Formats: sequence, C-alpha cells, structure tokens
Amino acid sequence: MEKEYDVIVVGGGPGGSTAARFAAEGGAKVLMIEKRQEIGTHVRCGEGLAKGLLDHAKIPLDRSWIACEVDGARIVSPGGKVFEVDEAKAGNETGYVIERDLFDRALARLAAEAGADVEVKTSATGIWKENGKIVGLHLINKGEKVDVRCKIIIGADGYESQVGRWAGIDTNIAPNDIMTCVQYRLTNIEVDDKYTEFYAGSCAPGGYIWVFPKNRDTANVGIGLGGHIVKEGGDPKKYLDAWIAKNPKMKNARQLDMVAGGCSINAPLDSVVADNVMLVGDAARMIDPMTGGGIAHACLSGRFAGMVAVDALKAGDCSKEYFQRYEKLWRAEIEEKLFRNWMAKEKVQKISDETFDKLIGLLNEVGMENISVFNILKAIKDRYPELVKEFEDLL
Ligand SMILES: Cc1cc2nc3c(=O)[nH]c(=O)nc-3n(C[C@H](O)[C@H](O)[C@H](O)COP(=O)(O)OP(=O)(O)OC[C@H]3O[C@@H](n4cnc5c(N)ncnc54)[C@H](O)[C@@H]3O)c2cc1C
Repeated sequence: MEKEYDVIVVGGGPGGSTAARFAAEGGAKVLMIEKRQEIGTHVRCGEGLAKGLLDHAKIPLDRSWIACEVDGARIVSPGGKVFEVDEAKAGNETGYVIERDLFDRALARLAAEAGADVEVKTSATGIWKENGKIVGLHLINKGEKVDVRCKIIIGADGYESQVGRWAGIDTNIAPNDIMTCVQYRLTNIEVDDKYTEFYAGSCAPGGYIWVFPKNRDTANVGIGLGGHIVKEGGDPKKYLDAWIAKNPKMKNARQLDMVAGGCSINAPLDSVVADNVMLVGDAARMIDPMTGGGIAHACLSGRFAGMVAVDALKAGDCSKEYFQRYEKLWRAEIEEKLFRNWMAKEKVQKISDETFDKLIGLLNEVGMENISVFNILKAIKDRYPELVKEFEDLL
C-alpha cells in the first residue's frame, strides 16, 4: 500500500467497489479499504436484486453470482390474498436472487482490474486533517497504524458509517426510520423458486417478512420490524420464529445461517457531501424505504461518486461546492422515488390487517402496465377513492 492516493474508498461493499472502479477507470489513483479480512463475507442481505441495475450501474452480468432468476414477486396480505407482480409488469422491480458473497467479490475484482489498489483487513479510524483541512485518513492496516494522504474520501462504509460523522455530515435518522432485521437461510422447505414473496401486516408490524428463493428447497427467510415496534420491546426474531412455526411449507426447516442488522428507511438526506468527502450507498442512507433494497442504489451512487471524483481531480477542486455535481446526479435518479416511498412507508406502517386485505384484493382487480407505488395508489384512487383518502397527499 502506498502513502498517497487521489481517492480512498472506505468500504468494500457494492457501493465502495463500484465507486473505486469508476474512479480508477477515469484515471484516478485509487485505494479501496475493507475492514474485514475477506470481501463479501458476513453480508447481511436477502440478496434480491433488480435486473435493471445492471444496465444502470454498468455492471456486467455474470451468471456465477446468480442463484435464481425469478419471474416476479408475490405480495401476500394477512388474510392470505395474493397480489402477483410478473416481470412484464414490474419491469426493473423483479429480477435475481444473487449470491451476495460472489457478487461483492466480482465487483471488487472489477475495481482491481480497473487499476484500484484493494486492501482488506484495513480500517479507517479517522480523518487526517492539517490546519483544519482534510489531507487523508488514519488507517489500521493489518494491525499497523498508518496515515495515508488523499484528495478525496468516498465513504462507502455502510449502515454503521463513521466517515460521514467524521466529516460533519448529518446522517442521523429518527428511530422510526430504522428497520431492524433478522434473517435465516432455511433449507428443507418448500419454495417456489420463480417468485420472491413478501408478507405484510401484523406478522411484521412496520415492516414485512420476505422469502427469497435460493433454489427449490432453500430460501432467505427474513423479517424487518419498524423502529417504533422495536422501541416498544418488539423482538424481530420472535415474530419471525412464530411465522415460520405456523407455515406448513417450513415444517421441516433447518437453518443454514442467521444474520441480523439494521436498515435505514428514511427520507433522503439533505446533504451527503463535504469538502473532500462524498458518501455513497447505505452510508448516505439511500436504501429504498418501502422495500429495504439498497444494493442497486449503492452501486448507482458509487458509479456517480467515482465519476465525479475523476472530474474534481481534473478540475483541481474537491470542495463541497464541486461535489454538488454528485448530489445532482444521484438525486435526479432516485431522490423522488426515495421520498415518495418514505411517505408511503409512513402510511403503510399504520394500516390495519383488514385494510391490507382490502388493498391487496383491489390490486388484483386493477390492471396496470407499470407497477410503482405511485401507479398503485393512483389506480386505487380512481376506482375506490374512499380507501386511499389517507394516502391522498402521496399523489
Ligand atoms: C437483513 C438485511 C437484508 C437485506 N436485503 C436486501 C436485499 O434483498 N436487496 C437489497 O438490494 N438490499 C438488501 N439489504 C440492504 C443491502 O444489504 C445494503 O443496502 C447494501 O449492502 C449496501 O451496500 P454498501 O456498499 O452501501 O454497504 P455495505 O454492503 O454495508 O458495505 C460497507 C462495507 O464497509 C466496510 N466498513 C465499514 N466501516 C469500515 C471502516 N471504518 N474501514 C474499512 N471498511 C469499513 C464494511 O465491513 C462493509 O464491508 C438488506 C439489508 C439487511 C440488513
């Protein structure tokens, strides 16, 4: 590892690897650091991925990291009503269940092939400043303290990000904008490997239960609970265990692994940049508040941050003002969707099981070309205005 780089990317997840790749492809001298000893291990993820991401974030398809190609998604109401979203209607919203460990490693390999240095077992411990200006990062590289200079830091250090805090970017979110998740990989169960499934209502207050197939007898079965429920003592593991115990398709289930973690489900932050610093992915709180999906946004924002880093280096300007170009790029793509889905999440968290049943029933009656929160609400409003009275402001 050298002592000076143009760009240091903190975190070797999808956001970090994509940022490192695009910065290196543009000619920057890039170091990506990952605190774990191996990229792609212990990822906390249901592994669902929208197909459209690949074009969007310019990620080449590699069959080795695809576990299942699904035809669509099923949303199941508390009373057992099912709304099926097939691929033709859902467009980019359905796609693959991936092998996240292999996916993360493939992205890191693309970054390395583009010329980025990659160091594992290397943690950022603080921002290095001289005369009040950021000049690099303090690192611990395989047990040894080392200071490395750089012009730009890309914070891709995930949900528990510290880079933003060190740089003075306000990444705080309200407890209600945090979803607490627990997931098992279960085998010896009956799985439809052509559909991802989502179970809403009181089985997972403020969130949902997901079943994402890995193959015909194995799936990621997880739950996200709303922050307000967890604050009142709600335990996601208990909710999930109770749901699995009642599910006849899982009566012989055996666990292959278990992960737990937090997920931000907030409205977009006001700013994700500071002088010499850009945040991407979960560090920038870019997870979709309705679906909890964050891989696509991490890759997309990583791509934009990498591209803007290259331009900033050429312009000799790594200021917060210059990084407004990055803000514009990611906001143009996903800000409106994040905001609308955050508002929808706020509403959906409050609806009763009975209303859920009605809504899912109605969705089956309404034909739609494109499924989105907006189109769903609009269609319901056209046919059953009384049911969406409290959702009016979303439209
Ligand atoms: C239970 C669960 C299920 C989920 N399921 C899905 C799903 O099905 N589909 C989906 O799209 N999204 C899902 N998500 C969200 C998804 O996992 C994240 O949005 C995605 O991983 C974000 O990528 P990232 O690169 O921003 O951050 P991460 O993947 O979290 O990567 C951050 C990396 O930074 C490293 N790091 C942290 N601090 C430091 C430091 N100081 N120095 C060096 N390295 C550091 C970490 O070790 C980590 O490898 C799920 C999340 C949870 C919790």
